[in-house]
Formats: sequence, C-alpha cells, structure tokens
Amino acid sequence: MFSLDGKSALVTGASRGIGRAIAESLAGCGAKVVIGYVHGEEKAQQVADGIIAAGGEAEIVGFDVGDASLAEKEVVALAKRLGGLDIMVANAGIALDGLLLRLKEDDFDRTFSVNVKGAVACARGAIKSMMRARQGRIVFLSSVVGEMGNAGQVAYAASKAALLGVTKSLAREYASRSITVNAVAPGFIDTDMTHELPEAAKEQMLQSIPLGRTGTANEVAAAVTFLCSDEAAYITGQTLRVNGGMYV
Ligand code: NAP
Repeated sequence: MFSLDGKSALVTGASRGIGRAIAESLAGCGAKVVIGYVHGEEKAQQVADGIIAAGGEAEIVGFDVGDASLAEKEVVALAKRLGGLDIMVANAGIALDGLLLRLKEDDFDRTFSVNVKGAVACARGAIKSMMRARQGRIVFLSSVVGEMGNAGQVAYAASKAALLGVTKSLAREYASRSITVNAVAPGFIDTDMTHELPEAAKEQMLQSIPLGRTGTANEVAAAVTFLCSDEAAYITGQTLRVNGGMYV
C-alpha cells in the first residue's frame, strides 16, 4: 500500500464506477479526496460518507466538466480552498456511440467537450497550484479504444486518443516542476458505461480479452493510485494499460 498522507486529490466523475474506486483507493492510502460529479449528488455524498466512515477525509464538488471555463475556475477555487492540490485525476467521461454515418455532430462535440476539453481544463486549474508547490500528479483516463479503435465509437475513440497526446505534451511541459502526467487506459471494465452495451457486443468484446474476463474498477484504481504515489516519481508521459491483454 502506498502512502498519500497529507496529500489532497480531486477525482472527477467519482460518484460511481471507476472514479469511485479511484477515490476510495486514494483515500485508503491517506489522501484527502474531493469527489467530483455532475448529476449524481446523492451518490457522490454516499461515496464521501463511506470514506469518512472508514476513517478517511472526503468532500464532494459538483460541476459539469463539459463547460471548460467553469471547470477550470472550480478547480482553481478548490485548490485555493484546500491550500493546494497534489493529485488531479481526470476520470469523468461519456461515450456517445454511433456508426460514423449516423453520428450526430452535437454528440461528437459533446464527447470532446467532456472527455478532452473538460479534462484539459481541470488539468489547467490544477497545474497552477502544482507549479507553485513544484510537485504534482495528473492522471487522465484514456481507453483501450483510443489506441486500437472500435467500430461505432468514432467520437469516443478519437477523444481518448486525444488524451494520449495531451498526456505526452503536458508531461514534457511540466516535468521541470516535478509534475508527472500519465494516462491509464482501461480495457473492458464492469461499470454503468459498459452495462449499456448490447449483449452481442459484450460477448464479442469478452472473446477478445486474453485473460477471459472483464476488469474491475478496483483493478483500474490500483494503477491510478500507483501513478499518484511517490514511488512513481520517475514515470511521466506514459500510458498504463489495464486491459487483460486485450491490446498489447
Ligand atoms: P460511468 O460509470 O459512466 O461514470 C461516469 C462518471 O463521470 C460519473 O461519476 C459521472 O457523474 C461523471 N460525469 C459524466 N459526465 C460528466 C460531466 N459532464 N461533468 C462531470 N462529471 C461527469 O463511467 P466509468 O465506466 O466509471 O468510466 C470512467 C472513465 O473511464 C471514463 O473516462 C471512461 O471513458 C473511462 N473508461 C471506462 C471503461 C469501461 O470499460 N468502463 C473503459 C475504458 C475507459 P454523475 O454520476 O454525476 O453523472
């Protein structure tokens, strides 16, 4: 177990799924965690309550990361209120799927607003305080489909590929301040997002996973927690794949 005692962390989209597991894992290592959400205030509060009941520190913050200027302001305000932000995990994401010929431009735009511009805005907000502290950890949640593509996921795959370019660029920009920037690229993880897939698509997906099963949110959270730890200080600009061998 890594020690994150005395660190503060924001995890966007932590009211459920992978984000929730990340928040719980960071808190379990001693970090004070801020649980981001957009609609699920009650669920976010339950996550915070669970962390507090287990002896940790947590609070919630609700804003739409798809509104980039609002997201940046919220993160700046949060960092100021907490006296600094050591860890920022850009996890909030949406998948608006559709084959190219049926893909609506609005869906493409919204996917990029939330998954790319929102993640970058949160990073901008966090980096200001990290630069002052001359240390920090930023982790973006990409996806296996950002690297291998997937029929019917043009917008989503493009947004997750974009995050890999963002990760590498920010890693180079802020390494001199000891701020590391990495991506975690999950494969097929059992959450609300994948519950929405048709059964046939799930079956096909399972057959392409060498380890023969879906991954868990906790398995993704473990990778994110490692990248946020002191032990990962020499790792930046990398993509850690948590995909059961689906893409190697
Ligand atoms: P999920 O179960 O659908 O949860 C999405 C989370 O993001 C929720 O907490 C939601 O908050 C929040 N969110 C959505 N839109 C938002 C917005 N506009 N502003 C702020 N928060 C917003 O998703 P998940 O499966 O845990 O996925 C988490 C991340 O991992 C995503 O970036 C996803 O693309 C990536 N990923 C997932 C998989 C997978 O197999 N599940 C695979 C690869 C990558 P509310 O509860 O308030 O709506």
